[in-house]
Amino acid sequence: MSKKVLVLGEISDGSLRNVSFETIAAAKTIAGDGEIVAVLVGEAVESLAKEMIHYGADRVVTVEHENLENYTSDGYTQALTPVIDTEQPEGLVFAHTALGKDLAPRLASKLDTGLVSDVTEIDQQGDDVVFTRPIYSGKAFEKKVITDGVTFATIRPNNIDPLEKDETRSGEVASIDVEIADLRTTIKELIRNTTDGVDLSEAKVIIAGGRGVKSEEGFAQLHELADVLGGAVGASRGACDAGYCDYALQIGQTGKVVTPDLYVACGISGAIQHLAGMSNSKTIVAINKDPEANIFNVADYGIVGDLFDVVPLLTEELKAL
Ligand code: FAD
Repeated sequence: MSKKVLVLGEISDGSLRNVSFETIAAAKTIAGDGEIVAVLVGEAVESLAKEMIHYGADRVVTVEHENLENYTSDGYTQALTPVIDTEQPEGLVFAHTALGKDLAPRLASKLDTGLVSDVTEIDQQGDDVVFTRPIYSGKAFEKKVITDGVTFATIRPNNIDPLEKDETRSGEVASIDVEIADLRTTIKELIRNTTDGVDLSEAKVIIAGGRGVKSEEGFAQLHELADVLGGAVGASRGACDAGYCDYALQIGQTGKVVTPDLYVACGISGAIQHLAGMSNSKTIVAINKDPEANIFNVADYGIVGDLFDVVPLLTEELKAL
């Protein structure tokens, strides 16, 4: 198997998001012995090209324009269309992020092709590339094989391991000139909503609080534990509705979908809508004073107890390590 696959590098605050490297690893499975072409779109992105090559891209195409400083679906569509027209890739892989979720369906429709979204696993089985994706809010998984046309997939962050970084790799970096005009939207100001400076969807450790945390002050204890572990703080909708924290922290069916290495659920009952956003986390620790709480059904480790005793104790013990 040998295909040309195009991946889109995602840039945040002037750096490549980790998921960009995961898209390269995913593309590798689709490309086989073929070529991986990374595209970087933005205002001044050429300096990031080398990193994409170190993580496995064979070639990088940059599209730079002052109107591309911030993402707009219009601007990025105008930027990527000529690249796709020139490269004629047989596959495309984007991240299943806010950007990818917005852009990929638009481009798939333009290319008159299908899209496998929110992929958590890609395997080579014989001649087939098999995509695994969650359905019914994570209660089941389906496996898909694309038999016709361009293979277009978005991958869920934190699920596919990046290839090992190899700083000896080299590859061509070329820029392409595009006219970005008549944008229907322009970004006047960007207000970022991250927790502890860590993007929830890419965080390796998440300390999440529910209604059991009881107050904004209660959340301060979760922030302390998150700080010790270099993680981010998330929340259930119960906690957001109660005003203990910002809705940007909400995890679940109507919030963010996360897959950290470690998810610590504090005072969260484990409603199905919450599980939809976190049940694929690699290791789940639940702290709840109710031994019958549903969260224990998905937890790898359960602590039955008062979170106001357990969380400070954990923080102290971990600090001492
Ligand atoms: P509760 O269910 O009230 O649970 C609080 C838990 O804290 C209890 O288990 C209790 O035993 C424990 N507790 C209390 N005090 C302590 C203590 N001191 N120490 C330890 N444990 C303690 N919810 C989401 O989270 N995300 C979503 O995206 C989402 N989307 C939804 C979409 C729809 C359409 C609907 C209808 C609902 C949605 N919900 C969502 C809401 C969901 O159904 C639950 O209401 C919500 O998840 C409950 O939040 P909670 O677990 O924090 O609160």
